Order: sequence, then structure tokens, then C-alpha cells
Amino acid sequence: MNLKNQYLIDLYDRVVKRNQGEPEFHQAVREVLESLEPVIERHPEYIERGVIDSIVEPERIIKFRVPWVDDNGKVQINRGFRIQFNSAIGPYKGGLRFHPSVYEGIIKFLGFEQIFKNSLTGLPIGGGKGGSDFDPKGKSDMEVMRFCQSFMTELSKHIGADTDVPAGDIGVGGREIGFMYGQYKRLRNEFTGVLTGKGLTYGGSLARTEATGYGLCYFTDAMLKDNGKSFEGKTVVISGSGNVAIYATQKATQLGGKVVALSDSNGYIYDKNGIDLDCVKQLKEVERKRIKEYVTTHPDAEYHEGCSGIWTIKCDIALPCATQNEINEESAKALVANGVEAVAEGANMPSTPEAIEVFQSNGVLFGPAKAANAGGVATSALEMSQNSMRYSWTFDEVDAKLKGIMENIYANAAAAAKEYGLEGNIVAGANIAGFLKVADAMLAHGVV
Ligand code: NDP
Repeated sequence: MNLKNQYLIDLYDRVVKRNQGEPEFHQAVREVLESLEPVIERHPEYIERGVIDSIVEPERIIKFRVPWVDDNGKVQINRGFRIQFNSAIGPYKGGLRFHPSVYEGIIKFLGFEQIFKNSLTGLPIGGGKGGSDFDPKGKSDMEVMRFCQSFMTELSKHIGADTDVPAGDIGVGGREIGFMYGQYKRLRNEFTGVLTGKGLTYGGSLARTEATGYGLCYFTDAMLKDNGKSFEGKTVVISGSGNVAIYATQKATQLGGKVVALSDSNGYIYDKNGIDLDCVKQLKEVERKRIKEYVTTHPDAEYHEGCSGIWTIKCDIALPCATQNEINEESAKALVANGVEAVAEGANMPSTPEAIEVFQSNGVLFGPAKAANAGGVATSALEMSQNSMRYSWTFDEVDAKLKGIMENIYANAAAAAKEYGLEGNIVAGANIAGFLKVADAMLAHGVV
């Protein structure tokens, strides 16, 4: 560990002891604490007033049983979580993840990251995250509906348009948000903006579906341009084939890049001609099939079992958009050996600390998740604004706001890094810029 400040070393040890068996949370906390060393030298009040101790402890953890009945009439039991991490600058905001790997530590790491990400957007939203170990894969629509209704029956007691506004994440798309919104409305008899990522017919925002992937590319473009580069003519590798990956592929292509690979949790496809996105959208969004089906209609493309091989494909820009810790040190070295110029994270924490070290020490431009993928939550906040106004902006209006927000995030993170003597380190800059706003609000609120 690179922490040098004794106070932060002791605090990190306490976090590890208090949150045993939660390595993803430890990893996320460690990275932020490392970035804050120069900040607390200049601002000892954040230690004296307990701000850093408070920020690593969730305000509230809600954990509940989710019983539901499958198509065979058998009772199934899952676990539900909502962690309301920090509300210093606005109502809790963050997605719901439905995936068998979900446990308290995953939700805690995601909720912690969300605090800084939401702050970076410049919009008034606090940090939270939730989910379940339910696996939507292979379930019928009616099973997914029964699960979502049961999940919302408990969650509805803890959320609200001015309290906590969940959205989607892995395994939670438009279908799941619709079922949960319907149940909330029925239970509470109110039509409010309690969830974002809603369908366009019942309060959703145009461009929310595209926002995380588009935002990732706007951020990457700003980072490239600041260094005299662009997407134009570049080969791009993107992992995943879900919401973030699909719309990152679309925008990267519009900006002049050629996306040659995508993946799912079974394997990856390589298409040297450039990915045919209409085909991927049909497979993943409509038919809910595996990515390997792509090669049945594209004989020039290759399918390879296993996920990590995707990082051995030669590319100029890599955008990991699947899941946490998908790029390890070995994969990072393979990317560097193949001449990668920029890596920007669409997924949350997809690069291990060792991988980030490899990128940074080899001069690769690196955009960390909490800055690079903030476009989704930023547009969710724009959806909240539209719901409050009972009004809808056009696609172009939302997209223009998103672009402006992503360019500001890059500029603010780069400026914070420079101000604290870490020029070019966007990881540190994003952590510092995100932290300062939340920390000052916490100081203003007193010990609460
Ligand atoms: P989706 O569920 O739409 O897609 C996830 C994709 O990642 C799928 O292709 C999935 O493959 C793959 N994947 C999931 N788990 C693994 C795994 N363990 N190993 C390899 N591949 C895996 O999710 P999103 O696109 O919404 O989310 C992707 C990432 O982006 C997540 O880290 C999420 O937290 C982050 N994110 C999402 C935002 C949003 O607005 N949606 C906002 C900000 C961040 P398979 O189908 O085989 O499971």
C-alpha cells in the first residue's frame, strides 16, 4: 500500500477490520485515501472535524429478504440491499444491480464510489447503491416481474423522490425499472420521480439509455484532445455488450473510431471490419442471446471463449465496460505492449490498482470510472429535474447538457490534480475534486 500518512493508514486499518471480507470496498477506499494525502496536508480540518472518518461509513445499510414464486410454483429467496452512503449534497442516488455476485461488500464499494462520482457531476445528488443476488438471466418475464415487485415492496419503505432515487446497473434495465416503478406507484399511490431510467411513456428522459456510453466517449474525447489526440481513425476495444458497451460503441464510431471487439461473461468477439452494432443490439437488447451468436451472421468475425483475451487485441483506445477488476496487471501489460494510448473506464472499478499503476507509469492516458462513467448518473439527475418540472427536454437538449457535464468533469479533475501537484493524474484529480465539495458540505452540517 502506498499510504504514507499515519492517520490515513490507521483509518484504512479500521475500515478493513470493520468491513471484513469485503475486498472490493477496501480497494475503493484505499484509492481515495491515497489521493487525499496532499489534501489533508493543506486542510487538517477535515481530520480534526472527523470528515474523513465519516465519509467511509455509510449513513444507513438496509438489508432484506426478497421472497418470490418461480414459474414452477416454487418459493425462491434472494437478498436485497440498499446502502444510503452519503446525503451531504443531495438525496441518495445510485443504481440497483441484480447479479449473483452481489453481496454487501460489492454494494458498499459501489455506493462509496458513487459519492464522489455524483459530486463530480456538479449536480445536487448524494451517493447510494443497491441490488440483489437475483440472476435475471434465464428467467421468464413473469419471474422477473414477481421478483421486482417483491424487491420493491420492501425497498419502497426506504426511498422517495426527495430521499433516495435508485436507477439501473448490471442486470437492471428498462424492463426491471418498469416493473419496480409500477409496484412503487401502486404501493404509495403517487406518481413521482422515485426511479430514473424510466420508460419514455412514464417520465423517463430522452438520452438516458445512451448516457453512460455516450458520456464515456465525451469524457475520453476531452482527455484525448487535451493531449493533442482524438478518436479519429483509432482502433477501439470495448468489453461487455450491455447498456454501457453498446452506446459507447455507437458514440466511439460516430467520433471516428473503429470498434473491433465486444464481450459478455462467456467470451469475446473480434471483427476486424468493425462491429456491426445493429446486430449486437438485436442479439442483446431484443433476443437476450449470447455474444457468440454474432459470428453466425458475420463469418469474418472470430469468437473466443473467456473474457481476458480481449485485452490482447491490438488497439489505440480501450474502454472496459463490463465489470469490476476485469483488467489485471497482465492484461494492462498486454495493452501497453500493443501500444494503447488511452484507457477510460465505463464499468465501475474495472482496473485493478496494479493495472492502473502499469498504465500511469507507461504514459497511457487513464480516465477513472468515477469521472469517465458519470454520464449515466448525471443524466439521471437531469431526469429528476424534468420530473420535478413535469416537463421533457428534447434528445438534443439532454445530449448537449451531458456533453457539457462530461467536459467539465474532465477539466475539473485535471485542474484539481494540477493544483495538488499531481498534474496528469486524473485518478487523484477526480477523487480530490469529488471529495472537496462533499467534505465542505459535511463541515457545514456539523456532526450529523
Ligand atoms: P448490463 O447488465 O447492461 O451489461 C453488463 C455487461 O457486462 C454484459 O455484457 C455482461 O455479460 C458483462 N458482465 C457482467 N458481469 C461480468 C463478469 N463478471 N465478467 C465478464 N463480463 C461481465 O450492465 P451495464 O452495461 O449497465 O453496466 C456495465 C458496467 O457499467 C457496470 O460496472 C456498471 O456498474 C457500470 N455502470 C453502468 C451505468 C449505467 O448507466 N448502466 C452507469 C455507470 C456505471 P453477461 O450478459 O454475460 O452477464
